[in-house]
Amino acid sequence: HFGFQDGLSESEKTERVAGVFHSVAESYDRMNDLMSFGWHRVWKDHFVSSLNPGFSASIPPKPQRILDVAGGTGDIAFRMLHHAHVLNRNPDVRVTISDINPSMLAVGKQRASQALPASQQAALSFLVADATSFDPVAVPDNSVDLYTVAFGIRNFSNIPAALREAYRVLKPGGVFACLEFSKVSNPLFDAVYKRWSFSAIPLIGHLVAGDRDSYQYLVESIERFPSQTQFRQMIEDAGFLVGGQGWEDLTGGVAAIHKGVKP
Ligand code: SAM
Repeated sequence: HFGFQDGLSESEKTERVAGVFHSVAESYDRMNDLMSFGWHRVWKDHFVSSLNPGFSASIPPKPQRILDVAGGTGDIAFRMLHHAHVLNRNPDVRVTISDINPSMLAVGKQRASQALPASQQAALSFLVADATSFDPVAVPDNSVDLYTVAFGIRNFSNIPAALREAYRVLKPGGVFACLEFSKVSNPLFDAVYKRWSFSAIPLIGHLVAGDRDSYQYLVESIERFPSQTQFRQMIEDAGFLVGGQGWEDLTGGVAAIHKGVKP
């Protein structure tokens, strides 16, 4: 059995991933709900509220610049804007959704224009970019307060390079936060979960999106992604300070949140 990306160069991998997300862009949001039984919404809500975007003890509240990397169709960015502008009443929070794939961003733009109030739309921008090498003019050194990446980093052809870029663009004191599929700790639950993901997800992909291969790739990429401890080490290797255990497991480790602070 050959993996989807075995024996490919970095640029071939990037191209292959671009192809996957180009073909899933239209069905992406519906598929997320089906494949995770809606859990991805709970994880995303928790991820965003744990970061408490827009919170500021000073009056007027401090401005905040958020970069949502691999932001796709906007799930994280929209929640960030709502949390910052509505819950924390801080209108001075701007979010950039960056993604390598213009098709995913196009769906995000359309959703934003339908779902967000004008003030939030005005605080949102879109950037087509590879997370492993941002244009330093588009995203300068020390310019970002909060860097988020949700279900994106495992697709990157060079994860250490992406972490170095995160470090470069964040301000000192800025936060790197990642929500990603991870390793399930309970062996029984893991067996059930693996069975589900390896058989049902490609099948649902085939039936609902007419695209078995792309969803097969998604499952394989989850399997290949490092464990919680290994990923924590990679974040530290990039120069970030990691507090406590360094991550939080969600739903028994199906997903995990990792955070790091740029010193
Ligand atoms: N963050 C969104 C969410 O949680 O719904 C989208 C996640 S989607 C599973 C993964 C995204 O990563 C896709 O939109 C894909 O285009 C993007 N992606 C893959 N490789 C990338 C790269 N090298 N740089 C930036 N984005 C990338």
